[in-house]
Order: sequence, then C-alpha cells, then structure tokens
Amino acid sequence: KRSLLVVLGDQLSDRLKAFSSFDAIWMAEVTAESTHVWSSKIRIALFLSAMRHFAEDLRKRKVELHYRRLDDEPRCETLGEALQAFLEESDFESVRVTQPGDWRVLEELKAACEAAGRDLEVVEDDSFYATLEEFSQHAEGRKQLRMEYFYREMRKTHGVLMEDGEPVGGKWNFDASNRKAFGKEGPERLFPRQRFEPGEITREVIQMVDTKFSEHPGDLEHFDWPVTRADALRALESFIQGELAQFGAHQDAMWMGEPYLNHSLLSSSINLKLLDPKEVVAAAEQAYRDGKVPIESAEGFIRQILGWREYVRGIYWEYMPGYLQRNELEAQEPLPEFYWSGDTEMSCIRDVVTQTMKHGYAHHIQRLMVTGLYGLLLGVDPKAMHDWYLSVYVDAVEWVELPNTLGMSQYADGGVMGSKPYVASGKYIKRMSNYCEKCRFDPDKRSGEGACPFTVLYWDFLARHEESLSGNPRMSMQLRNLKRLSTDDVNEIRKAAKGIREANRAAGGS
Ligand code: FAD
Ligand code: SF4
Repeated sequence: KRSLLVVLGDQLSDRLKAFSSFDAIWMAEVTAESTHVWSSKIRIALFLSAMRHFAEDLRKRKVELHYRRLDDEPRCETLGEALQAFLEESDFESVRVTQPGDWRVLEELKAACEAAGRDLEVVEDDSFYATLEEFSQHAEGRKQLRMEYFYREMRKTHGVLMEDGEPVGGKWNFDASNRKAFGKEGPERLFPRQRFEPGEITREVIQMVDTKFSEHPGDLEHFDWPVTRADALRALESFIQGELAQFGAHQDAMWMGEPYLNHSLLSSSINLKLLDPKEVVAAAEQAYRDGKVPIESAEGFIRQILGWREYVRGIYWEYMPGYLQRNELEAQEPLPEFYWSGDTEMSCIRDVVTQTMKHGYAHHIQRLMVTGLYGLLLGVDPKAMHDWYLSVYVDAVEWVELPNTLGMSQYADGGVMGSKPYVASGKYIKRMSNYCEKCRFDPDKRSGEGACPFTVLYWDFLARHEESLSGNPRMSMQLRNLKRLSTDDVNEIRKAAKGIREANRAAGGS
C-alpha cells in the first residue's frame, strides 16, 4: 500500500512528524495560491524559491518526489485540482499531510482526496508548541480569551523562562520597560541587516514571477529573504548575536526610512518552517541565560512567538470558517488606492507602504498602528483589509494574518482577539516616530486646514461608535474625553471625516 505525503509551500521541514513514514512526496506550484488574493511578487517569489530549494534537497537525498511546476501540463489552477489529477493517474492508495495552516487549503485537500477515492490522513503539526486540541481545552468555558493567560500556561507547560515554578526575573511581562520611542536623534545603533543574495534558483524564479505576475504589486529588485534552512539559521544566529539585545526597549518605535530597526525578520522563515519556533525561542532564552541580552528583550521576543503566534493559531482554528465573515463595526468603505501605491501626503502611511512594496515587510506597530489604524478609523471593509495584508507581506499566511488583521487590528471580531479596538489619534504616531515631523499635517489638529486625518478620524470613530463602545470599561477614558468636546467641535470633526470618506470613494479605492 503506497502512501503519498503532500508537502505544502509553508511546510518545508522534514522534521515534521508527518515525515516519519511515506513512500513518495508530492508538491505543487499552482496559480491560484498567488491570485486568490492579489499576492505581491515578493511573496510569490519567496514561496516558490523556498519550495524549489526544498525540492532540490529532497532530490539530492534520492527521495521519490513528484513536483509540479507552475507551467506543467495539464494546467491546474488550484491545489485541489492538481492533487486530484495526480491521484487519478497514480497508484498511491493513501495520502497524508501535516495539518495545513489554512482552513481553505484543508477543505481543498479533503475534497480532492474524496473525489479521487483516497483516504486522507491529517497529521498534527508538531512544529507548534500547543496542539489545536490543547488550545480548545484552554478556551473551553472561558467567557473571554486573553493572550496573557494562555502565554503563562505555555511558559509553565514548556518550562520556558521559568525557575522553580516562577517566571525568571520575577515577572511574566516586561512591557512597561518595552514601549520606548527613540530620542530626537533616532535609533542609536542599528546592525547592518544580513542580506541573502539570490542564487541561481531564486534568480530563475524572480524572472518567471516578473513575467508571469507582472501586474502584481511589489518590487523584486531588492529581494534578499532567506529561502533555505541554512540561510534561515544564519539569519537567526545573526539576530541573536545582534539586534536581540535591543529588541525589547524600542519594540514599538518607528523611524522614517528604517524598515527593520531591531526586529528579527524571522517571521517568513518560521512560517515556511525553515525554522522551528522552538529553536528560535530556545536560542533567545539561551542568550539571556548566558548574560548576553537583558530579560526585557528575551521575554519580549519570546512572548511574540510562544504567546502571540501560538494564540492566533488557536483563535483561527477555533473560530474558522465563520471568523472570515465577521464585521462587528459594519465597516464598508473601500480600501484607499494609496495602500498599493504609497501615493499619499500622509508621511506615515507613505513610508510604511513604500517599504512594504519594496521589501514585503513592515514591523508589527507599523502594521497595527499605521496602516491598520487608518483602515479601522476610516471604516474600511475588514475583508478588504484582510486581502491587502494577505497580499503584501512575505510572512503572510492566513492562519496568522487573519486574526491579526480582522481581530487585533480591525476589531471586526467584536473582541475575541483584543479586549477593545486599538484606536488612537495621530498623537500616538507622533510619540512613537518621527513621521509627523516630515508631514504636511499636524497630529494635534482635529479639524480645519492641516488637521491630521488620523486625528480627525479618531474623534469621528469615537463619536460614531460611542453607544456600542460605552459598555466597555477599557474605552471609558477615551469616551470621557470625547464628552469634553463641544457639540460644534464634534460637528466640525464629523464633517471633516465625511469629506475624507467621500474623497476616498471618489478616488476609487478597491
Ligand atoms: P519580530 O518583531 O522580530 O517578532 C518575532 C516573531 O514573533 C515574528 O517573527 C513572529 O513569528 C512572531 N510574532 C510577532 N508578533 C506576532 C503576532 N501578532 N502574531 C503572530 N506572531 C507574531 N505575522 C505573520 O507572521 N504573518 C502575517 O501575515 C501577519 N500579519 C499581520 C497583520 C497585521 C494587521 C498585524 C497587526 C500583524 C501581523 N503579523 C503577521 C504579526 C507581526 O506583525 C509579524 O509577525 C511581524 O511584524 C514579523 O516581523 P519580525 O519577524 O521582524 O517580527
Ligand atoms: Fe501620519 Fe498625521 Fe503624523 Fe502625518 S501628522 S505623519 S498623517 S500621524
């Protein structure tokens, strides 16, 4: 009885449990994975190059590999079509796959195997700390899920940053030391970012993507992401020896023209499984125990992976497929055109979109408190926001992108991911960056000439949602401040906000 192991584009690791037994491997490049959202060329190139490198490695090891390239005949648009066509022509009697990250993909594989009359075995993805079952158990019976409690459980269960049953450093959370802006002069010392020059396989992929997906967003000229495990391990080592020590303090800060700061840039490698989250966490903990990095940095970094990353995966599988349809605030506006072009006078959005199209990267606060915040305040349809985030980032895969966008950033899930909408005025961006110094708008102005669109829309947001948010104690301070504004003031703000929305619709956002 021959068994086929399906390896998806974001499952590039032979350390997964599913690799313990199989006769042959099947992998496929299909167009739909790059077009079901308008995927950036950088993201497409990263996936295809990493897949081809992984396949090359399997071939060298003489594994029986059935690899379908994008242009192979017969043409198949989707993964499901390609798998079904392959199974119908082959003698494999059973199929196994590591639990796919995305709900849509799992459904496609199930349907393909059923249509071809083959059994599909879905093997737990053991690269994660928590199984989906464990997350469900954690969620069961809780009225409100909170990342912090889940994270503490993870720390205890897996003995990460623990000593005699207590968190090292005496606290679970060092966020209070971790929210600093840079001084007037900007970041003191940044390490030169390690680049991974495209080799032969990547160059070939880049050429193909540039031709075949020429209309897609993103610029391939600067492509330098790790596409192999060896490169990803080098990127990890370089981060641990370099930026990690300063990761904590300025984790939330932004600076014009500096896309990377002290962030790890490891998300794409972890999501493709070139790196195991457990080895990344272990390396950060070891650096702390060796006295090389402060606890604030080690804990802040580990929280992102052991906490947030595991938590969003749990949320995704707990609430899908209905989660995708949620729109708690009934937001309907189109996505502004400048999310693709960067062509806006708002210097914060211009900087973030420009670097996104150039590198396929923005760090968390840029995503949450610049592009995400603007979409939330303007009232953009959360599905359009979701499509954009899934398209443009190298690390974008739905299971992690969706809860972050729809939940954390747009509050479209009504409070599953976060206990309140992350709303702020332009003053937050002024505090955390130097963007406002180079902008024609004034973050302190909420109406009239030169008023910052974020600030206008922030007060308008509070006024529009005052009633529904009034039951949320975490919003009470912001709503109290709204009450201090005069009726004339509020009317002016609402008029200005209406103008911004009308201009956006007239500009033909998507
Ligand atoms: P670092 O700042 O160095 O953090 C270290 C690691 O922690 C990351 O590599 C990542 O694996 C993990 N991590 C950090 N924050 C989160 C988080 N909120 N959720 C899950 N994991 C986290 N992350 C993705 O991997 N893919 C996405 O598609 C994605 N979409 C996002 C969309 C929005 C609207 C927001 C607000 C966040 C999104 N994130 C996403 C989370 C986070 O922004 C990125 O993981 C991070 O910016 C990647 O850069 P880095 O590797 O330099 O991260
Ligand atoms: Fe952004 Fe407003 Fe600051 Fe301009 S003034 S950079 S639009 S927050």
